[in-house]
Amino acid sequence: MRKFQNPVIKEITEKYRRIWAVNHANSLLSWDSEIYMPEKGVSERSIALAELSVLYRELILKDEFVSLVEKGKNEKDLNLWESGIIRVLEREINRMKKIPPELLFELQKTSSEAFQVWKNAKAQKKFEPFLPYLQKLVDLNIQIAEKLGYEEKPYDALLDMYEEGLRTRDAKAVFDVLKPGLKNYLEKIRGGKFYGEHELERIKYETLSMKSVNEEVLKMIEYPEERARLDVSPHPFTISMGINDVRITTRYEGYDFKRSLFSVLHEFGHATYELQIDPELDMTPIGTGVSLGIHEGQSRFWENVVSRTLAFTEVVKPVLDKHLGFTSKYSAEDIYRYFAMVKPSPIRTEADEVTYNVHIALRFEIEQMLIERELKPEDVPEVWDNMMQDLLGIKPVDVSEGALQDVHWAHGTFGYFPTYTLGNIVASMMMKKLNGKSRIYELVRSRSFNEIKEFLKENVHQYGSALSPKDLLARSFGKSYSPEDLLDYIQLKYVKDKEY
Ligand code: MG
Repeated sequence: MRKFQNPVIKEITEKYRRIWAVNHANSLLSWDSEIYMPEKGVSERSIALAELSVLYRELILKDEFVSLVEKGKNEKDLNLWESGIIRVLEREINRMKKIPPELLFELQKTSSEAFQVWKNAKAQKKFEPFLPYLQKLVDLNIQIAEKLGYEEKPYDALLDMYEEGLRTRDAKAVFDVLKPGLKNYLEKIRGGKFYGEHELERIKYETLSMKSVNEEVLKMIEYPEERARLDVSPHPFTISMGINDVRITTRYEGYDFKRSLFSVLHEFGHATYELQIDPELDMTPIGTGVSLGIHEGQSRFWENVVSRTLAFTEVVKPVLDKHLGFTSKYSAEDIYRYFAMVKPSPIRTEADEVTYNVHIALRFEIEQMLIERELKPEDVPEVWDNMMQDLLGIKPVDVSEGALQDVHWAHGTFGYFPTYTLGNIVASMMMKKLNGKSRIYELVRSRSFNEIKEFLKENVHQYGSALSPKDLLARSFGKSYSPEDLLDYIQLKYVKDKEY
């Protein structure tokens, strides 16, 4: 069956192709700036990217296009895919209309200055230089929230930019369940098999050997070479040019090889989402993943649910032994323990599966208070340290491992952090449903990775952005973001030490 039957929708998808082409070029230029661009290309490239985003805005707000979308909205009997097109375009047109370009420009300008100041302030371990920028970025975000509009809280408008339909009260309900639950499990894990450090964290590797590991693992899980790439960048990411050109990166730090390997597996999850979208949606407004939370669910699923397991360790061990060598004196059990170590750390990006969401809970509360003007930016470091002490029992030694550790606020981004936890939740919901059909450890041991992919395609990937995140979860999992599923998964894996 052809998905787009309605003549107005067909016309929209044809007209949209030019807008898609601008996005395509934008993605490729962004990818290139991280991978190949010579250092001095940066100023020309930022002008090119800024001009392309102006062009994008012009095209999507063209009277002719906007009225076509209006017309489409009034069409009767649109199917799931067709109404998805209207939902996504209406949302985008609204966002573009409501935020004045001057405000976006101001945010862009302030955050590029803030980024430099933040880097220096973090290196000097001093909060004061960054404070005026934080104040201004909070103000600008409040202005954006006011322009966008909201029903309950200004923070809702910001959350909705990253996760369609997410409200402050949804996020609060999630963290109200997770915080006590995780604290309780962490106490039980303390002193057990998974708790502490592993000597493999300090062992050095050769970049070329590790590259061979990553490539062989990708081959094993059937990363499609003719439609996808693996490259190197300091901060691993995934970018999609379209359904047939998806690219991931990883990094090689030279020690603690799991960091390079699990970056690959994480980004592979993001890439697989984009690669498994129904081909009929290619070049349309719904031909990409629907939200950051659902996207992160796909990456965490491969990184944690599939790969951070004894079954996967056994399957991957011959590859490690062949290329790295030093792993051969460790048993699969021991390497699995290295993959799954739990230890409270002040740094979010180094956190394990159990403590990770505690870091997000803290950021959610602070952001929400800043945007509601219940917390003054100058008080952030103290509140941060106190919450850290209360939640994880550790105190950052200075602000570089406290309130200044992340780049998000310096980028002018507020409301993004909760999507990381939504991702972990979505991964656990997928795990529960798949496990109800076939045991995941059996699928992994028999290398039936295609069966896992088919399950993901059927339940999530095929839809692209046709369904909103909440509708997608309701349709495929019969519920909304379920923090209970995440707690069950953590309990099974880390408290009971059971295979699933
Ligand atoms: Mg990710």
